[in-house]
Amino acid sequence: SARALGGNTLVAYSEELNAEAARRLDLEAQLVHAVERDELDLHLQPQQRLDDGELVGFEALVRWRRGGELVSPGEFIPIAEESGLVIAIGEWVLERACAQIIALREMTGRDFVVAVNISARQFRHPGFYATIEALLARTGVNPASLELEITEGAVMEHTEAAVGLLHKLRALGLKLSIDDFGTGYSSLSYLKRFPIDKLKIDQSFVRQLKPNSQDAAIVQAVIGLGHTLGIKVIAEGVETIEQREWLKRLACDEIQGYFYSRPLAEPQLFAFVIRQCRAEAAA
Ligand code: C2E
Ligand code: MG
Ligand code: MG
Ligand code: MG
Repeated sequence: SARALGGNTLVAYSEELNAEAARRLDLEAQLVHAVERDELDLHLQPQQRLDDGELVGFEALVRWRRGGELVSPGEFIPIAEESGLVIAIGEWVLERACAQIIALREMTGRDFVVAVNISARQFRHPGFYATIEALLARTGVNPASLELEITEGAVMEHTEAAVGLLHKLRALGLKLSIDDFGTGYSSLSYLKRFPIDKLKIDQSFVRQLKPNSQDAAIVQAVIGLGHTLGIKVIAEGVETIEQREWLKRLACDEIQGYFYSRPLAEPQLFAFVIRQCRAEAAA
């Protein structure tokens, strides 16, 4: 009967919720030990400048090897954010990113920019600025090689404090970018108050990008806005040559996505960088 069916659906639904909650608890309990057990990895995804095709930098993306399973940051970062573990994980990521900047410089003699994702909670943590300052002093990396990716959500609440902190970070010489631009708060007035170097156009606007589409109009407007304000624009999630060509015609500064390269672990990363540097030297 309909009633029995409704009852079964409810049971199934609540079992599903329980399974989800159980996985979450399980992940959280093991995430506590992920750093000390050396289960995290940092993959770097190359970024390409469009006018001359040069490799200019990378986005650092964290990976968690949990037993035989690779848990995606889309799943464990929100758990880390809620539990506060994101502070320790974030420090590990920053440390590792600085080590990569140094390794890449030693290998190529070039200063590449490595962009690190900073979660809202990490950004608002009272010790954040001191952590960055200590990191720069300890590792000696060129501050201009380290970019912090912040989301609109992280900076829009607590605006006064956020503006002050962004200026202090910028004064250290770091680069600052707004991640997933266009998906968060739509108030644009912060752009003139924040010392931002780069906007990252969210991949949702890039996926169906084609001439005369609504997405093309949005992307064109963002690029125009950025350039008017002296801010560079990078498009995320570029998977095809058509998307790349269209972004180039719209005067987008840089691209990142599977078309140029997937996020790379160390041996492949170094091979990619050496290949690009040789190709650019030959060009
Ligand atoms: P995000 O910062 O917007 O990173 C871009 C995501 O798009 C990455 O997913 C990347 O692997 C993926 N991607 C890159 N190119 C393409 C493409 O051409 N097509 C498609 N479909 N996807 C592409 P990933 O690595 O799974 O990371 C997901 C999110 O997790 C990131 O989104 C970021 O918000 C967060 N995250 C990753 N690493 C960290 C970290 O170290 N700290 C913090 N706080 N968050 C992180
Ligand atoms: Mg990002
Ligand atoms: Mg993004
Ligand atoms: Mg995203």
